[in-house]
Amino acid sequence: MSQQTLFPIDDTPLGSPSCHDCKLCQVRTKIVFPTHPAASGILAIGEAPGAEEDVTGEGFIGKAGKKLDSLMAAHGIARSQYGRANVVRCRPPGNRKPDTEEKEACLPKLAAAILKFEPRVLLLVGGTAVEAFLGKGLVFDHVMQSRRSPVCDLGKAHKALRNGLRPLLNRQEGLLCVPMPHTSGLAWNRYAKDGSRWSEIGAEQVALAVHQAKIAYDINRTSRGEKLL
Ligand code: SF4
Repeated sequence: MSQQTLFPIDDTPLGSPSCHDCKLCQVRTKIVFPTHPAASGILAIGEAPGAEEDVTGEGFIGKAGKKLDSLMAAHGIARSQYGRANVVRCRPPGNRKPDTEEKEACLPKLAAAILKFEPRVLLLVGGTAVEAFLGKGLVFDHVMQSRRSPVCDLGKAHKALRNGLRPLLNRQEGLLCVPMPHTSGLAWNRYAKDGSRWSEIGAEQVALAVHQAKIAYDINRTSRGEKLL
């Protein structure tokens, strides 16, 4: 991908490496910090680190992460060219879903990372991330809504995100959110409400995120007085 990021990559720490703000600190091995969206402007957001991520401290490296890498690669976006983050940074035991208290403790940190990175598009991977930003409801319904309008007004987002991300709503391109089903093998083989496979819908949503990131990039360039080719 030839686009350059509009924002410099800043590697200063995005939080304490010894955070004790929720009980997951007692069971984690390593905190998995968010990574910068880089050239693509896309930040993928999942639920929580899994077993491999917990040991290495790197996000999205299991099978589901590799699946997302391959979907991005189909658009010329390498792993180093998109960012990764999770609703919570520490692994819940047994890969259970993060509970209310854990999300409340960690989502302000995610909001701070998003404000710092200023991604052009948030690619919400799986039900937990989709609900945090877009509110309750079926992932399929959120997917269909995102095809009509990918702009999120945060009205149904978790209150930690509503409060933390409000400054981004003033951007010309708004806060672009593209939801997609989880990329785990289990989810991937299921069928959605319209009979499509989740794998087809996932690939289409990644294409939508790439398309929206390009549009946001062009809007930014135009607003700075640059001519588009
Ligand atoms: S999940 Fe988040 S809030 Fe909880 S200990 Fe880890 S970094 Fe801190």
